[in-house]
Amino acid sequence: MPPRHVYVHVPFCARRCSYCDFAIAVRSRVPSDEYVQAIVRELELRSLGADVPVDTIYLGGGTPSRLGPDGVARVIHAVCDRFPPAPDAEITIEANPDDVSAESITAWRRAGVNRVSLGVQSFDDNALEWMHRTHDADRAATAARALADGGIDNWSLDLIFALPAALGRDWARDVERAVALAPPHISLYGLTVEAHTPIAHWRERGDAVEGTEDAYEIEYLHANRALTAAGYTHYEVSNFGRPTRFSRHNRGYWTGASYVGLGPAAHGFDGMTRRWNEREYAAWLSRIGENADPIGGFETLSDDNRSAERVYLGLRTTDGLALAPEHLEHVRPWIDAGWSTVSGGTIRLTPTGWLRLDSLAASLTMLRSR
Ligand code: SF4
Repeated sequence: MPPRHVYVHVPFCARRCSYCDFAIAVRSRVPSDEYVQAIVRELELRSLGADVPVDTIYLGGGTPSRLGPDGVARVIHAVCDRFPPAPDAEITIEANPDDVSAESITAWRRAGVNRVSLGVQSFDDNALEWMHRTHDADRAATAARALADGGIDNWSLDLIFALPAALGRDWARDVERAVALAPPHISLYGLTVEAHTPIAHWRERGDAVEGTEDAYEIEYLHANRALTAAGYTHYEVSNFGRPTRFSRHNRGYWTGASYVGLGPAAHGFDGMTRRWNEREYAAWLSRIGENADPIGGFETLSDDNRSAERVYLGLRTTDGLALAPEHLEHVRPWIDAGWSTVSGGTIRLTPTGWLRLDSLAASLTMLRSR
């Protein structure tokens, strides 16, 4: 399948957030020139390009906004040279509040950016400090207002929930403050403790670093109620949007579309095979320096893999999944429990069902494979 989407991983961060296990490179000074040249070279070495215009380009990280306006423009230019965007393409940059200003917004827009994903996470300074975020609540609110003032009418605000109770973070107040800034889209992330992160070490030494399962459920369902009451559609397990502002890039992943990944740790998919690049920045850079494809690995999906993915991806959005009539009895207990609905031959999970997504998807996959 020709690629419909391009993802560019920009790994640089000022420091590692306490919960983060992403592929990042902590740098006080970002080597923008080196990085941009390597992206251009990766495009050449892999002979990448497409005749069919792409729907979305997404600069994720890491912190792409740390590339600086010129670095961002050069990356987008290099990608667009090989992958011409459709006239209405969605071009997103992930940004930390520290990097958002009238000047940076103007430069991003000039480069073609028309969507910004803002990493706010909380409006509680104590929680932000615990998370090792570099911004405070005022800075986050200022950045959000700057996006609206700067003419970015498609932007998303990220929040983290299920923080440890000991922090005393008021989740309902954070959701209220987010809504007051009127983002067209909101993404939620439930805190989980991943290996080798600072909070994993804190947990090892006996500190409480995660909320309880009950707190997770309570906060998740509170967000669902508050945000839908404020007019957002809860269209995917972790995402809420105004009707025309759902993430088109992520929707590509959820619908099994083909995409190209550039930069360290970036994944790509051609409809059959998933490949990923060397995860560490130094390893990725070194392979490109040797004029080699910086591939780190690949897997060709079996029919069973693809079927399992279809179920999992279908259940995570309000698009739902076609349900064979003979499977209706199997899911009736889910309907009775309020975890799903079935209408017109399609099963859709409810928010309480999304809290059980993994086990429900596994159960349905097993049923379909019999
Ligand atoms: S800014 Fe994002 S990518 Fe960077 S360390 Fe924090 S959570 Fe990870």
